[in-house]
Amino acid sequence: MVKTINKAFQYRLYPTVEQGKILASHFGQARFVYNYFLRKRIDYYAANKGHEKQSLNYHDTAKMLTELKQQPKFAWLKESNSQSLQQSLRHLDTAYSHFFNDGFKFPGFKKKNRKQSFSVPQHFNIDTKTKLLYIPKLTPIKIVLHRPIEGKMKSVTISKTPSGKYFASVLCEIEKTVKSKQTGGEIGIDIGIKSFAVTSKGERIDAPKFLRQSEEKLTRLQRLLSRKVKGSNKRNKMRIKVARIHDKISNQRNDFLHKLSHRIVSENQAIFAENLHVKGIMANRCLAKSVSDAGWSEFVRQIKYKSEWHGVYFKQIDRFLPSSKRCNSCGWINESLMLADREWVCQDCGQVVDRDFNAAQNILQFGKLETSTEGRSETKRPGRLRAVRRVVELGSRLL
Ligand SMILES: [Zn+2]
Repeated sequence: MVKTINKAFQYRLYPTVEQGKILASHFGQARFVYNYFLRKRIDYYAANKGHEKQSLNYHDTAKMLTELKQQPKFAWLKESNSQSLQQSLRHLDTAYSHFFNDGFKFPGFKKKNRKQSFSVPQHFNIDTKTKLLYIPKLTPIKIVLHRPIEGKMKSVTISKTPSGKYFASVLCEIEKTVKSKQTGGEIGIDIGIKSFAVTSKGERIDAPKFLRQSEEKLTRLQRLLSRKVKGSNKRNKMRIKVARIHDKISNQRNDFLHKLSHRIVSENQAIFAENLHVKGIMANRCLAKSVSDAGWSEFVRQIKYKSEWHGVYFKQIDRFLPSSKRCNSCGWINESLMLADREWVCQDCGQVVDRDFNAAQNILQFGKLETSTEGRSETKRPGRLRAVRRVVELGSRLL
Protein backbone atom coordinates (compact mmCIF):
# COMPACT_ATOMS: atom_id res chain seq x y z
CA MET A 1 0.00 0.00 0.00
CA VAL A 2 1.32 3.44 -0.92
CA LYS A 3 1.09 5.79 2.02
CA THR A 4 1.74 9.47 2.38
CA ILE A 5 3.88 9.97 5.44
CA ASN A 6 4.84 13.26 7.06
CA LYS A 7 8.40 13.51 8.21
CA ALA A 8 10.31 16.43 9.68
CA PHE A 9 13.96 17.12 8.94
CA GLN A 10 15.86 19.40 11.26
CA TYR A 11 18.85 21.50 10.21
CA ARG A 12 21.06 24.06 11.93
CA LEU A 13 20.79 27.62 10.66
CA TYR A 14 23.52 30.24 10.83
CA PRO A 15 21.90 33.66 10.37
CA THR A 16 24.05 36.80 10.23
CA VAL A 17 23.80 39.35 13.05
CA GLU A 18 21.46 41.42 10.88
CA GLN A 19 19.26 38.41 10.06
CA GLY A 20 19.26 37.50 13.76
CA LYS A 21 17.67 40.87 14.54
CA ILE A 22 14.94 40.38 11.96
CA LEU A 23 14.33 36.83 13.17
CA ALA A 24 14.05 38.16 16.74
CA SER A 25 11.28 40.51 15.68
CA HIS A 26 9.51 37.68 13.79
CA PHE A 27 9.69 35.47 16.90
CA GLY A 28 8.37 38.34 19.00
CA GLN A 29 5.45 38.99 16.66
CA ALA A 30 4.48 35.32 16.42
CA ARG A 31 4.56 35.13 20.23
CA PHE A 32 2.60 38.36 20.57
CA VAL A 33 -0.15 37.12 18.24
CA TYR A 34 -0.38 33.81 20.08
CA ASN A 35 -0.60 35.42 23.51
CA TYR A 36 -2.89 38.28 22.42
CA PHE A 37 -5.46 35.91 20.93
CA LEU A 38 -5.16 33.43 23.77
CA ARG A 39 -6.22 36.30 26.04
CA LYS A 40 -9.03 37.22 23.61
CA ARG A 41 -10.32 33.66 23.53
CA ILE A 42 -10.25 33.36 27.32
CA ASP A 43 -12.05 36.69 27.77
CA TYR A 44 -14.60 35.91 25.09
CA TYR A 45 -15.50 32.64 26.76
CA ALA A 46 -15.78 34.29 30.17
CA ALA A 47 -18.19 36.89 28.74
CA ASN A 48 -20.27 34.55 26.56
CA LYS A 49 -20.37 31.30 28.48
CA GLY A 50 -23.74 29.61 28.03
CA HIS A 51 -24.65 31.71 24.98
CA GLU A 52 -25.17 30.26 21.56
CA LYS A 53 -21.71 31.29 20.43
CA GLN A 54 -19.51 30.97 23.47
CA SER A 55 -16.06 30.66 22.01
CA LEU A 56 -13.87 32.02 19.23
CA ASN A 57 -12.50 29.73 16.54
CA TYR A 58 -9.55 30.03 14.20
CA HIS A 59 -11.51 31.96 11.56
CA ASP A 60 -12.80 34.50 14.08
CA THR A 61 -9.28 35.20 15.29
CA ALA A 62 -7.88 35.38 11.74
CA LYS A 63 -10.46 38.04 10.91
CA MET A 64 -9.68 39.94 14.11
CA LEU A 65 -5.95 39.81 13.28
CA THR A 66 -6.55 41.43 9.89
CA GLU A 67 -8.50 44.21 11.60
CA LEU A 68 -5.84 44.58 14.28
CA LYS A 69 -3.13 45.16 11.69
CA GLN A 70 -5.12 48.09 10.25
CA GLN A 71 -4.75 49.98 13.53
CA PRO A 72 -1.71 52.31 13.51
CA LYS A 73 -0.81 51.09 17.01
CA PHE A 74 -0.31 47.55 15.70
CA ALA A 75 1.09 48.40 12.28
CA TRP A 76 4.43 46.85 13.33
CA LEU A 77 2.79 43.44 12.92
CA LYS A 78 3.08 44.00 9.17
CA GLU A 79 6.84 43.47 9.45
CA SER A 80 6.20 39.73 9.70
CA ASN A 81 5.08 37.46 6.93
CA SER A 82 1.28 37.50 7.37
CA GLN A 83 1.05 33.74 6.82
CA SER A 84 3.43 33.17 9.74
CA LEU A 85 1.14 35.15 12.03
CA GLN A 86 -1.84 33.13 10.81
CA GLN A 87 0.15 30.00 11.61
CA SER A 88 0.44 31.24 15.22
CA LEU A 89 -3.35 31.36 15.32
CA ARG A 90 -3.54 27.84 13.95
CA HIS A 91 -1.12 26.63 16.62
CA LEU A 92 -3.29 28.27 19.24
CA ASP A 93 -6.34 26.57 17.79
CA THR A 94 -4.55 23.21 17.86
CA ALA A 95 -3.60 23.79 21.49
CA TYR A 96 -7.27 24.35 22.27
CA SER A 97 -8.31 21.25 20.43
CA HIS A 98 -5.66 19.20 22.29
CA PHE A 99 -7.09 20.55 25.53
CA PHE A 100 -10.70 19.69 24.68
CA ASN A 101 -10.20 16.42 22.83
CA ASP A 102 -7.00 14.90 24.08
CA GLY A 103 -6.83 15.88 27.74
CA PHE A 104 -3.79 18.12 27.33
CA LYS A 105 -3.17 21.05 29.66
CA PHE A 106 -4.98 24.32 28.95
CA PRO A 107 -2.83 26.41 26.56
CA GLY A 108 -0.41 28.69 28.38
CA PHE A 109 1.08 32.04 27.43
CA LYS A 110 4.38 31.83 25.57
CA LYS A 111 7.39 33.25 27.36
CA LYS A 112 10.28 35.14 25.91
CA ASN A 113 12.96 33.11 27.68
CA ARG A 114 11.77 29.78 26.25
CA LYS A 115 12.30 28.31 22.81
CA GLN A 116 11.11 30.81 20.18
CA SER A 117 9.60 29.87 16.85
CA PHE A 118 7.50 30.82 13.89
CA SER A 119 6.31 28.80 10.91
CA VAL A 120 6.29 29.50 7.21
CA PRO A 121 3.61 27.45 5.44
CA GLN A 122 4.33 28.61 1.87
CA HIS A 123 6.70 30.57 -0.34
CA PHE A 124 9.92 29.19 1.08
CA ASN A 125 12.68 27.22 -0.56
CA ILE A 126 15.96 25.52 0.17
CA ASP A 127 18.70 25.73 -2.41
CA THR A 128 20.68 22.54 -1.85
CA LYS A 129 23.56 23.72 -4.05
CA THR A 130 24.26 27.04 -2.38
CA LYS A 131 22.93 25.74 0.99
CA LEU A 132 20.63 28.67 1.55
CA LEU A 133 17.15 28.89 3.02
CA TYR A 134 14.78 31.37 1.41
CA ILE A 135 11.86 32.65 3.49
CA PRO A 136 9.68 35.75 2.99
CA LYS A 137 10.93 39.10 4.33
CA LEU A 138 14.49 37.88 4.87
CA THR A 139 17.65 37.57 2.84
CA PRO A 140 18.79 33.94 2.24
CA ILE A 141 19.99 32.24 5.47
CA LYS A 142 22.89 29.82 5.64
CA ILE A 143 21.67 26.27 6.35
CA VAL A 144 23.69 23.13 7.10
CA LEU A 145 22.17 20.17 5.27
CA HIS A 146 23.80 17.32 7.16
CA ARG A 147 21.33 14.86 5.59
CA PRO A 148 19.33 15.06 2.36
CA ILE A 149 15.75 16.29 2.33
CA GLU A 150 13.27 13.67 1.12
CA GLY A 151 9.85 14.13 -0.38
CA LYS A 152 7.87 17.26 -0.95
CA MET A 153 8.47 20.20 1.38
CA LYS A 154 5.24 21.37 3.01
CA SER A 155 6.29 23.94 5.61
CA VAL A 156 9.26 25.11 7.61
CA THR A 157 9.49 26.16 11.24
CA ILE A 158 12.31 28.43 12.30
CA SER A 159 13.31 28.24 15.96
CA LYS A 160 15.87 29.56 18.41
CA THR A 161 16.80 27.76 21.60
CA PRO A 162 17.32 29.69 24.85
CA SER A 163 21.07 29.12 24.44
CA GLY A 164 21.01 30.91 21.09
CA LYS A 165 21.08 28.13 18.46
CA TYR A 166 18.90 28.43 15.36
CA PHE A 167 17.14 25.55 13.62
CA ALA A 168 14.91 24.99 10.63
CA SER A 169 12.50 22.08 10.87
CA VAL A 170 11.28 21.16 7.40
CA LEU A 171 8.07 19.16 7.25
CA CYS A 172 7.95 16.91 4.19
CA GLU A 173 5.40 14.62 2.62
CA ILE A 174 6.85 11.33 1.49
CA GLU A 175 5.13 8.72 -0.65
CA LYS A 176 6.16 5.30 0.54
CA THR A 177 5.08 1.76 -0.18
CA VAL A 178 4.48 0.11 3.18
CA LYS A 179 3.87 -3.59 3.68
CA SER A 180 2.51 -4.62 7.04
CA LYS A 181 5.20 -6.38 9.02
CA GLN A 182 4.61 -10.07 9.69
CA THR A 183 7.57 -10.84 11.92
CA GLY A 184 8.42 -9.94 15.48
CA GLY A 185 6.44 -9.95 18.68
CA GLU A 186 3.45 -8.20 20.12
CA ILE A 187 3.97 -5.89 23.03
CA GLY A 188 2.01 -3.81 25.52
CA ILE A 189 3.71 -0.76 27.04
CA ASP A 190 2.65 1.03 30.16
CA ILE A 191 4.00 4.21 31.62
CA GLY A 192 5.84 3.40 34.81
CA ILE A 193 5.65 5.59 37.85
CA LYS A 194 9.16 4.91 39.01
CA SER A 195 10.50 3.64 35.70
CA PHE A 196 10.01 5.39 32.39
CA ALA A 197 8.08 2.48 30.93
CA VAL A 198 7.25 -1.15 31.64
CA THR A 199 6.52 -3.69 28.93
CA SER A 200 4.35 -6.80 28.87
CA LYS A 201 7.56 -8.78 28.35
CA GLY A 202 8.55 -7.82 31.86
CA GLU A 203 11.15 -5.23 30.93
CA ARG A 204 11.51 -2.10 33.03
CA ILE A 205 12.95 0.81 31.10
CA ASP A 206 14.60 3.57 33.04
CA ALA A 207 15.78 6.92 31.82
CA PRO A 208 19.57 6.77 31.49
CA LYS A 209 21.63 7.81 34.48
CA PHE A 210 23.40 10.66 32.66
CA LEU A 211 20.04 12.18 31.89
CA ARG A 212 19.02 12.10 35.55
CA GLN A 213 22.40 13.60 36.49
CA SER A 214 21.88 16.47 34.06
CA GLU A 215 18.43 17.04 35.50
CA GLU A 216 19.84 17.20 39.01
CA LYS A 217 22.45 19.66 37.82
CA LEU A 218 19.73 21.80 36.26
CA THR A 219 17.82 21.95 39.54
CA ARG A 220 21.01 23.08 41.34
CA LEU A 221 21.78 25.76 38.75
CA GLN A 222 18.23 27.05 38.75
CA ARG A 223 18.38 27.47 42.50
CA LEU A 224 21.63 29.43 42.15
CA LEU A 225 20.11 31.53 39.37
CA SER A 226 17.14 32.51 41.51
CA ARG A 227 19.54 33.92 44.14
CA LYS A 228 21.41 36.21 41.75
CA VAL A 229 20.42 39.86 41.57
CA LYS A 230 18.17 40.67 38.60
CA GLY A 231 19.94 42.49 35.78
CA SER A 232 23.41 41.65 37.13
CA ASN A 233 26.23 40.27 35.01
CA LYS A 234 26.50 37.17 37.16
CA ARG A 235 22.83 36.44 36.69
CA ASN A 236 23.15 36.75 32.95
CA LYS A 237 26.09 34.32 32.89
CA MET A 238 24.12 31.89 35.03
CA ARG A 239 21.11 32.23 32.76
CA ILE A 240 23.22 31.14 29.77
CA LYS A 241 24.55 28.18 31.77
CA VAL A 242 21.00 27.12 32.59
CA ALA A 243 19.96 27.47 28.95
CA ARG A 244 22.91 25.29 27.86
CA ILE A 245 22.02 22.56 30.31
CA HIS A 246 18.43 22.71 29.04
CA ASP A 247 19.72 22.08 25.53
CA LYS A 248 21.89 19.24 26.75
CA ILE A 249 18.99 17.58 28.55
CA SER A 250 16.73 17.84 25.56
CA ASN A 251 19.43 16.31 23.33
CA GLN A 252 20.09 13.48 25.77
CA ARG A 253 16.39 12.81 26.16
CA ASN A 254 15.79 12.80 22.41
CA ASP A 255 18.66 10.42 21.94
CA PHE A 256 17.29 8.07 24.60
CA LEU A 257 13.75 8.20 23.17
CA HIS A 258 14.89 7.66 19.58
CA LYS A 259 17.00 4.62 20.45
CA LEU A 260 14.21 3.15 22.55
CA SER A 261 11.41 3.76 20.03
CA HIS A 262 13.60 2.38 17.25
CA ARG A 263 14.30 -0.80 19.22
CA ILE A 264 10.65 -1.39 20.13
CA VAL A 265 9.46 -0.84 16.58
CA SER A 266 12.11 -3.12 15.09
CA GLU A 267 11.46 -5.94 17.56
CA ASN A 268 7.68 -6.06 17.17
CA GLN A 269 4.90 -6.29 14.60
CA ALA A 270 2.19 -4.97 16.91
CA ILE A 271 2.54 -2.39 19.66
CA PHE A 272 -0.09 -1.34 22.15
CA ALA A 273 0.30 1.57 24.51
CA GLU A 274 -1.94 3.37 26.87
CA ASN A 275 -3.71 6.48 25.69
CA LEU A 276 -2.79 9.04 28.30
CA HIS A 277 -4.76 11.82 26.68
CA VAL A 278 -7.59 11.21 29.02
CA LYS A 279 -8.31 13.80 31.59
CA GLY A 280 -8.14 11.60 34.67
CA ILE A 281 -4.40 11.18 34.61
CA MET A 282 -3.66 14.83 34.08
CA ALA A 283 -5.89 15.66 37.03
CA ASN A 284 -3.47 13.81 39.22
CA ARG A 285 -0.80 16.47 39.35
CA CYS A 286 1.95 14.35 40.78
CA LEU A 287 1.63 11.75 38.06
CA ALA A 288 1.03 14.33 35.36
CA LYS A 289 4.36 15.93 36.16
CA SER A 290 6.27 12.71 35.83
CA VAL A 291 4.44 12.03 32.57
CA SER A 292 5.32 15.34 31.01
CA ASP A 293 8.87 15.34 32.36
CA ALA A 294 9.66 11.92 31.11
CA GLY A 295 8.71 12.85 27.55
CA TRP A 296 6.06 10.15 27.28
CA SER A 297 4.03 11.97 24.64
CA GLU A 298 7.15 12.46 22.52
CA PHE A 299 7.92 8.76 22.94
CA VAL A 300 4.43 7.82 21.74
CA ARG A 301 4.74 10.24 18.83
CA GLN A 302 7.99 8.57 17.76
CA ILE A 303 6.60 5.04 18.09
CA LYS A 304 3.62 6.12 16.02
CA TYR A 305 5.50 7.52 13.06
CA LYS A 306 8.20 4.85 13.11
CA SER A 307 5.52 2.15 13.17
CA GLU A 308 3.81 3.77 10.23
CA TRP A 309 7.11 3.92 8.42
CA HIS A 310 7.90 0.23 8.96
CA GLY A 311 4.40 -1.25 8.62
CA VAL A 312 4.10 -2.08 12.32
CA TYR A 313 0.61 -2.05 13.81
CA PHE A 314 0.30 0.53 16.59
CA LYS A 315 -2.71 1.22 18.73
CA GLN A 316 -3.38 3.27 21.81
CA ILE A 317 -5.72 1.75 24.35
CA ASP A 318 -8.18 3.95 26.17
CA ARG A 319 -7.22 4.76 29.69
CA PHE A 320 -10.60 4.07 31.22
CA LEU A 321 -10.15 0.39 30.77
CA PRO A 322 -9.17 -0.86 34.24
CA SER A 323 -5.61 -1.66 33.19
CA SER A 324 -4.09 -1.24 36.65
CA LYS A 325 -6.96 -2.68 38.67
CA ARG A 326 -7.53 -5.83 36.66
CA CYS A 327 -5.60 -9.00 37.44
CA ASN A 328 -4.08 -10.03 34.12
CA SER A 329 -4.45 -13.74 34.68
CA CYS A 330 -7.98 -14.12 36.05
CA GLY A 331 -9.69 -10.76 35.45
CA TRP A 332 -10.53 -9.97 39.08
CA ILE A 333 -10.84 -6.23 39.69
CA ASN A 334 -9.08 -4.75 42.69
CA GLU A 335 -11.46 -1.91 43.50
CA SER A 336 -9.44 -0.72 46.48
CA LEU A 337 -6.20 -0.19 44.53
CA MET A 338 -4.45 3.04 45.47
CA LEU A 339 -1.85 4.92 43.46
CA ALA A 340 0.74 4.12 46.11
CA ASP A 341 0.19 0.35 45.86
CA ARG A 342 3.08 -1.05 43.88
CA GLU A 343 2.15 -4.67 44.45
CA TRP A 344 -1.03 -6.45 45.45
CA VAL A 345 -2.39 -9.96 45.86
CA CYS A 346 -5.27 -11.07 43.66
CA GLN A 347 -8.15 -12.16 45.88
CA ASP A 348 -9.36 -14.59 43.25
CA CYS A 349 -6.38 -16.46 41.85
CA GLY A 350 -3.88 -15.52 44.52
CA GLN A 351 -1.10 -14.28 42.26
CA VAL A 352 1.10 -11.45 43.45
CA VAL A 353 0.52 -8.64 40.99
CA ASP A 354 3.21 -6.12 40.13
CA ARG A 355 1.31 -2.96 39.30
CA ASP A 356 3.21 -1.78 36.22
CA PHE A 357 3.86 -5.18 34.70
CA ASN A 358 0.20 -6.11 35.22
CA ALA A 359 -0.95 -2.95 33.47
CA ALA A 360 1.34 -3.64 30.50
CA GLN A 361 -0.05 -7.19 30.26
CA ASN A 362 -3.61 -5.89 30.31
CA ILE A 363 -2.84 -3.31 27.64
CA LEU A 364 -1.53 -6.09 25.41
CA GLN A 365 -4.62 -8.23 26.08
CA PHE A 366 -7.06 -5.37 25.48
CA GLY A 367 -5.20 -4.40 22.35
CA LYS A 368 -5.19 -7.91 20.91
CA LEU A 369 -8.85 -8.43 21.64
CA GLU A 370 -9.78 -5.10 20.13
CA THR A 371 -7.84 -5.76 16.94
CA SER A 372 -9.18 -9.28 16.60
CA THR A 373 -12.70 -7.80 16.55
CA GLU A 374 -12.03 -5.00 14.13
CA GLY A 375 -9.06 -6.38 12.26
CA ARG A 376 -5.80 -4.59 11.71
CA SER A 377 -6.93 -2.74 8.66
CA GLU A 378 -7.01 0.97 9.03
CA THR A 379 -10.50 1.97 9.92
CA LYS A 380 -11.80 5.46 10.28
CA ARG A 381 -11.66 6.88 13.75
CA PRO A 382 -14.94 5.90 15.35
CA GLY A 383 -17.22 8.50 16.88
CA ARG A 384 -16.61 9.21 20.50
CA LEU A 385 -19.73 7.49 21.79
CA ARG A 386 -19.21 4.43 19.63
CA ALA A 387 -15.65 4.19 20.86
CA VAL A 388 -16.79 4.34 24.47
CA ARG A 389 -19.45 1.71 23.88
CA ARG A 390 -17.01 -0.58 22.18
CA VAL A 391 -14.45 -0.23 24.94
CA VAL A 392 -17.05 -0.92 27.64
CA GLU A 393 -18.18 -3.96 25.71
CA LEU A 394 -14.62 -5.22 25.31
CA GLY A 395 -13.91 -4.54 28.97
CA SER A 396 -16.86 -6.62 30.06
CA ARG A 397 -15.83 -9.47 27.78
CA LEU A 398 -12.44 -9.55 29.40
CA LEU A 399 -13.76 -9.55 32.95
ZN1 LIG B 1 -6.18 -13.08 39.59
